[in-house]
Amino acid sequence: MSREKLLQLGLDLPLFPVTAVGSFPKPDYLLQGRSDFRKHKITADQLHKLEERATTFWIEQQEELGLDVLVDGEMYRGDMVAYFAENLPGFEQGGLVRSYGNRYYHKPIITGAVEWTRPMTVDWWKFAQNLTQKPVKGMLTGPYTIMDWSFNEHYPDRRATCLALAWVIRREVEALIEAGCKIIQVDEPAMSVRPEELPVLIEGLQAVTQGLSAYFITHACYGAFEHIYPDMLKAPVDNFDLEMSNSDLDMLDLFRKNPFTKDISFGVTDSHSHKIEDVATVRRRVEQALTVLPKEQIWLDPDCGLKTRSVEESIGKLRVIVEAAKSLRS
Ligand SMILES: [Zn+2]
Repeated sequence: MSREKLLQLGLDLPLFPVTAVGSFPKPDYLLQGRSDFRKHKITADQLHKLEERATTFWIEQQEELGLDVLVDGEMYRGDMVAYFAENLPGFEQGGLVRSYGNRYYHKPIITGAVEWTRPMTVDWWKFAQNLTQKPVKGMLTGPYTIMDWSFNEHYPDRRATCLALAWVIRREVEALIEAGCKIIQVDEPAMSVRPEELPVLIEGLQAVTQGLSAYFITHACYGAFEHIYPDMLKAPVDNFDLEMSNSDLDMLDLFRKNPFTKDISFGVTDSHSHKIEDVATVRRRVEQALTVLPKEQIWLDPDCGLKTRSVEESIGKLRVIVEAAKSLRS
């Protein structure tokens, strides 16, 4: 079903399309550049040049490795929620809170009506897409996750906050489509944090996607999916991008009881582990997936973004996925 949609959009992908979830590690010169920029040692323009250089590097790497659907690698973002908060009127920067491990970020505060005034990701998408013939995914953070990872001092409740954000993210989706983007990923890593709020998340994604012509993906990871499956399949997306390997493919048991009805970007390498899996391990994971899922529905990618891995580890993990895909196709 979704293959037809891809063909209608002019995208003829091979079996087991290989993609990446979104983020890649920033090369050393960009980390240095971000630090220099914070200390006012370089200008915003100089930092932008470094971000372009790093984006070009990652597009070239993905091309060389042979990925089928590329990402820009998010070289211009610190954090996936803060980036949008910094660019949307209605938000103010809050204090530092801890996210995974030893990473800290400024949790944004919604202090007024959130508004979309200009595209936030379109220029980066265009920059990346101009470097390659392969499709590049548009990458956005979903309204539910932005709501969940922010403080709200303006809207009456969580649902109202989520829906207000949804209309803003929809404007960005429209701008991406107008620019020619055909595959758009709306990340919702907070999907499973409050199972009773799944209807709010779905309502938000409906507002984001309804009536718009693109192939939509949403990414979620490291959650208690047994509480939201199969209801999560009601989300209006074509493809769920899911972490599978870190949790030992546990979700396959859920799929056995209630068939998975969408395409899936099946996480075949563990993004939390330094170890680079071998091709046989990745193949074995796909073969297990094939006991439950039709092959036409399966895309392959790492479990999650790779920004916490090194450049070498990230390339190594992508390489084994591409090699496994090639061997499975033949
Ligand atoms: Zn993730």
